[in-house]
Amino acid sequence: MASVLESSSTDNDLSSVYRSAEPVITFDQAEALAERYGTPLLVISRSAVLRNFHAMRAALPGVEFFYAPKANPADPILRTLCESGCSVDVCSHGEMTAALRAGFSPEAMIHTHPCKTVSNLTQCYAEGLRWFTFDNSNEIAKLVRYTPDVNLLLRLAVSSSSSVINLSAKFGASEADAVPLLLEARAAGLNVRGMSFHVGSQCRAPEDFHRALAQVRRIFNDAASVGIDLEVIDIGGGLPAPYRDSVLTLDAYCQSLWRALDASFGDLNLRIIAEPGRGMCADAATLITKVIGKSVRNGLPWYIIDDGLYGSFSGQVFDHTEFPLLARGAEERPLTECVVAGPTCDSSDVVCRDQLLPDLALEELLLAPTMGAYTSASASNFNGLDLARVIGIE
Ligand SMILES: *Cc1c(COP(=O)(O)O)cnc(C)c1O
Repeated sequence: MASVLESSSTDNDLSSVYRSAEPVITFDQAEALAERYGTPLLVISRSAVLRNFHAMRAALPGVEFFYAPKANPADPILRTLCESGCSVDVCSHGEMTAALRAGFSPEAMIHTHPCKTVSNLTQCYAEGLRWFTFDNSNEIAKLVRYTPDVNLLLRLAVSSSSSVINLSAKFGASEADAVPLLLEARAAGLNVRGMSFHVGSQCRAPEDFHRALAQVRRIFNDAASVGIDLEVIDIGGGLPAPYRDSVLTLDAYCQSLWRALDASFGDLNLRIIAEPGRGMCADAATLITKVIGKSVRNGLPWYIIDDGLYGSFSGQVFDHTEFPLLARGAEERPLTECVVAGPTCDSSDVVCRDQLLPDLALEELLLAPTMGAYTSASASNFNGLDLARVIGIE
C-alpha cells in the first residue's frame, strides 16, 4: 500500500485516499423505516450502488463491468445496475434466472464457474449464455460434448497476499499448465478467447493485481508464441470495502489498477472485463437490527439482537468479515465492553465480544454499515427465524 500512498499523497490528503464504513441512512431514517417495515431490515441505497459503479467506470475507462451477484442478488441492486448499462457475471442457472428477471440479456452475461454441473452448463447455454470459463481438462471434455460453440476464458490461479479470501485456493490453472490447457482446448475445437483470474476477495492492496497482470502477460506472450492470440482479459473481482478498517477509495484503487493495466497490456488492443461483487454493493447497504433481550452474565452486559450469524451476519462465518455496530449518539454516552448475540438458540451465535457500546435499551436500534456483500446472500432460516427483509431506497 505504501507505493499507492506515495504516488497519491502529492495531490490527495489521506482522507481522500481512504474511506471508512458509513451507514447509508441516519438513525432518524432508521426509526421510520423500522416502524414501517419491521426489523431486521437490510436497506440498500440505489444511489450508493450507482456511485460505486460510476467511480469504477470513470477510473477504468473502456473496461466492461460484470457485477457478481454472488455477493448480493437482491433485485434493487440488479435492476439499478442493469438500467445503467452494467453486465452480470453468473455462476449458476439460479443466478442467471435472477439476472434475466432483473432485465439483463444473455449477451450481457458471462458464466464464471470453472467446474460446472452438466445441468448448470446446459441450462445456461439453452437460455443464450455464450461466454464460459474453465481451468482443467475434464471441463474441456464437458464443453466439447455439450456446448462446443461457446467463447472460453481460461481461469488462472494467482497469488493474493493481501486478500482476506483466497479464491485461487480452489480454482485456477497453474501458470505451468496454462499454455498446455489452451492448446488442448484449441485442439478439441473450442474457441478460447482469453484469460481470467481473481486476486481473492477483499483484496486490500491493488499491488496484487499488478503481480497477477504481469503473470497473465507472460502467458499471453507464451500463447502467442505457439500461435494462440488471446484477445480478452478478465481481471475478476476483489475490490475491497471498508468494515472496521478503512480501505482505499474506489477512485484511488481503480486508478492504481488502471496504471497496472496500462503497464502490462497497454501495447495490446484487448477487451478488458472486471467482475466486481463486494466493491459494487458492500457499502451500499446498512442493516437495521433491534435489541430484543438484555442480561448481565459474569459481570458483562449481554444484548440479544434480532439478526445474527445464521442471518445477515453470516458473513462473519463464511466471509471472515467483522461488521462494525453503531448506536445512536454513542459519542455522548459512556461506552463499555459487552457481548452482542444473535437471536437463535445456538450459543455460538455471537456477533461480537470486542466492540464498546453504550448501555443499550430494550428495543433500541443498532445500525451495521457495509452489510451489502456476502450477508443476506448466505443467510439461512435456521431455528425457524425469518431472514432480514431487504428493501431498496433511493
Ligand atoms: C466471487 C467472485 C467474484 C466477485 O468477487 P468480489 O471479491 O466480491 O468482487 C467475481 N468473479 C468470480 C469468478 C467470483 O467467484
